[in-house]
Amino acid sequence: MKEMKDELKQIIRSVKMYMETERLCGIEDFFVQPLSYQRTLEQLEQEVSGCRQCPLYKSRKNPVFGQGNQKAQLVFVGEAPGRDEDEQGQPFVGRAGELLTRIIQAMGFKRQDVYICNVLKCRPPENRNPLPTEIFACRGYLLAQLDIIKPKVICCMGKFACHVLLGEDVSISKVRGKFHDYNGVKLMPTFHPAYLLRNPGAKGLVWQDMQKVMTELKK
Ligand code: SF4
Repeated sequence: MKEMKDELKQIIRSVKMYMETERLCGIEDFFVQPLSYQRTLEQLEQEVSGCRQCPLYKSRKNPVFGQGNQKAQLVFVGEAPGRDEDEQGQPFVGRAGELLTRIIQAMGFKRQDVYICNVLKCRPPENRNPLPTEIFACRGYLLAQLDIIKPKVICCMGKFACHVLLGEDVSISKVRGKFHDYNGVKLMPTFHPAYLLRNPGAKGLVWQDMQKVMTELKK
């Protein structure tokens, strides 16, 4: 009994320290979700629209929750909203979004057949890379989205989406081209469309990855 009490005290101390660290980083609100509470995508989107779990809520024009078929077999996960996405509140609507739409169509889908979202739901200023504290604060929304949609295949685009879903710091070049496991779902890492705009030579590699996804989905 004494051991259990000591352990509990230690956990409470650790949580207090964690909250203090987050507060110093500018995170003002803490949100603890009961494990048994299964939300709908609409409920989750509502939570995101009022979310203040990291400082990005201060500079966003619109949160960008996600878009597409709520029962999609295929989910694309990117990094974070950019300027166009922040303006419109929709994921992948800029130049990188146009390229992603063309990739989706080449795979034999319409954009509305799949689901598209990002790791971060609010735009980092000047499109800088997401900070670890921001990813930590936001990733629960992505994991909940995937849990609700239950796709057959997840395509994670770029290193930040791969870090979150593979749970480790990986090089895209090393992990792309083969399926990984995400809680029993096939996960295909590939390059981000924004990377392809800067490095068109990598388009062929992405197409190889997408062909494997199509085979898995029998397209
Ligand atoms: S980025 Fe995510 S955690 Fe941060 S305020 Fe936006 S929704 Fe909340």
